Amino acid sequence: MSTTPPLLPIVRPALGDEEVAASARVIRSGWITQGPEVLAFEGELAAAVGANHAAAVANCTVALELALRALGVGSVKGRVDEVITVSHSFIATANAVVSAGGVPVFVDVRDDDLGLDPTLLEAAITKNTRAILAVHQLGIPCRILEIVALAKKHGLPVVEDAACAIGSEIEVAPGQWQRLGRPHGDVACFSFHPRKVVTTGDGGMLTTNDAALDARFRLLRQHAMSISDVKRHSASEIVFEQYLEPAYNFRMTDLQAAVGRPQLARLASIVTERRRLAEVYRAALEQSAVLAPPRDPPGARANWQSYPTRLRAGARLGQREVMQRFLDAGIATKRGVSNAHQEPAYASSHGQVRLPVSEQLRDACVLLPLFHGMKDEEQQRVLDVVRTLS
Ligand SMILES: *Cc1c(COP(=O)(O)O)cnc(C)c1O
Repeated sequence: MSTTPPLLPIVRPALGDEEVAASARVIRSGWITQGPEVLAFEGELAAAVGANHAAAVANCTVALELALRALGVGSVKGRVDEVITVSHSFIATANAVVSAGGVPVFVDVRDDDLGLDPTLLEAAITKNTRAILAVHQLGIPCRILEIVALAKKHGLPVVEDAACAIGSEIEVAPGQWQRLGRPHGDVACFSFHPRKVVTTGDGGMLTTNDAALDARFRLLRQHAMSISDVKRHSASEIVFEQYLEPAYNFRMTDLQAAVGRPQLARLASIVTERRRLAEVYRAALEQSAVLAPPRDPPGARANWQSYPTRLRAGARLGQREVMQRFLDAGIATKRGVSNAHQEPAYASSHGQVRLPVSEQLRDACVLLPLFHGMKDEEQQRVLDVVRTLS
């Protein structure tokens, strides 16, 4: 009989009795897609991040596509619509630009927050630029206020890829902190994939303070149907819907929304717990000759959706060797965030682009397991390996 402990995953979703009860309630209710639970989840998420509006969709990839489309990307046949974004992200960021009918223009990231470097933004703007898509990578806030100020100067809208960033905060004035997603740009998009901090299995949300944009999201996510199901079901007279333009099925189900709601209610304590785990890692990693801990950039507080350690300069172990040591001890890790321009999907269109910081970060970061619900002894298993690295 093997005595090897089970593989410690990079993330384990923390779902319990509340989520089980919520999904059972929906199953028994008879209304299981884009209905009252989705409406309630949207209202609760808008309140949690301080946004005027929130619209739920099937995942964050289509949320990003929808945001770009609603802002006009891909709306004129034959026109080139450039979207300035980062290559250093999950591939979904670049894919959403292409799905919306745009062309991604990649700029490099900052070394400290892994996000779009505002000092490189203006040089990338051309007459074809239609939008800026900034990513709060791994839940670490990028310099969104600087990015928005530059975008405003050029009359360009800003979409925030906040897929990982629910509960992360920025300092908007000395001592005044706000959660991401109010949004600080025009639209922010969240993901509820199991790797993220709040999960509905799959799921996404767009937040905005612009009522017209929110109406557009609601229309396009359901085939541009002129009357919502909720309205039609509560009408006392017969109403016939119309389909106003070719559009999409990007619906979230009520089952998903119901599972998200109790987690959203626990968001503050979830983020506090993740920050506590990050602090334990940080204290231990200060002593490591091989891995350095990440830090909150100035004016930002991460939710630690992921925990990206960095190989120290001069470390004798490489990324692969470090990751193998963890795997040998039954611990899952991940390498740094990938770069779209280095993936086969973008090799022919963007393979010649050079983004030195992005390229360096992919090969210098090692993501350690961190999730709320992680037991102290599980984190100790990780730290035991950290202590043997030299
Ligand atoms: C996870 C992720 C996405 C995609 O989210 P889905 O909900 O899985 O579509 C987009 N951008 C970033 C930065 C992500 O981490």
